[in-house]
Amino acid sequence: MRVLSAQGLRKSYGGTPVVSGVNLEIEAGECFGLLGPNGAGKTTTLRCLLGLTEPDGGEVSILGFPIPGSARRARARIGVVPQMDNLDPDFTVRENLVVYARYFGLDQGAVDARLPGLLEFAGLAHRADAKIQTLSGGMKRRLTLARALVNDPDLLFLDEPTTGLDPQARHVMWEGLRRLLNQGKTIFLTTHFMDEAERLCDRLSILDQGRIIAAGTPAALIERHIEPLVVEIYGEQARTWGEANGHLCERMETAGETVFCYTHGDEAVLERLRGAQGMRYLNRPANLEDVFLRLTGRELRD
Ligand code: ADP
Repeated sequence: MRVLSAQGLRKSYGGTPVVSGVNLEIEAGECFGLLGPNGAGKTTTLRCLLGLTEPDGGEVSILGFPIPGSARRARARIGVVPQMDNLDPDFTVRENLVVYARYFGLDQGAVDARLPGLLEFAGLAHRADAKIQTLSGGMKRRLTLARALVNDPDLLFLDEPTTGLDPQARHVMWEGLRRLLNQGKTIFLTTHFMDEAERLCDRLSILDQGRIIAAGTPAALIERHIEPLVVEIYGEQARTWGEANGHLCERMETAGETVFCYTHGDEAVLERLRGAQGMRYLNRPANLEDVFLRLTGRELRD
């Protein structure tokens, strides 16, 4: 079943196109990732999908409801985890969930029935009466995720769910998201963490300058857009080494003091490196970050 469809989505600000003909389709039970560098148009796309920003053109439908016409009805079956935690600091953990549940029109009985499960999901059953300021960043994120589940949504939108979290907290968030996928929920997430996208997402679209420049499963994107092996060579001598030995690579990229050697067979490169004194290097399979950097470039986008 199709949970979300967007066709020809367009939005400009002050005559500058920000979203330029985006098509997206998401099936029930999928984890779909929208990737893109800063300013690519991810948040604007997300806001158009949720009916919070009116697009200049295009058709959107979520769970069968046309957006923005029936956005309110669609939102009753959607959960949203915004980029910034916007929990109410004056309330406790429990109160934050209760207030949000009321907003969705749940009565006291329904709230009481749902609360223990949500607290358990957030790993905050023992902190139900704690004030928000006393929670760690990871706890706040988990509470925001649990809060997005108060209406038992079919579809969850997450805008950069693990930005600012430490590795432990990120792994706990990923476990939570996997649990939700196992329960059959559909997830739409934006992220610029390629490892997150590779781990969680069934399918991805890469957005750059308002256009989708590549789409597919993580494995298909890697296979289609990049050589399968990479040797990273580090340090002061890396550039000089690269200039002398670049012919051993199918494609070479340089960023600062690191040379990236992309190839289908890394043996000749590794042999040459082993023979050289004091070269630091790492050989690894190509990943989504290599694809992302190849397609969107290495220049900063701030
Ligand atoms: P991303 O989420 O991928 O970083 P955004 O959708 O936030 O990208 O922004 C895309 C571009 O649109 C940026 O150049 C941003 O400055 C511009 N933009 C976003 N929202 C507005 C707005 N409300 N008014 C004017 N420009 C905007």
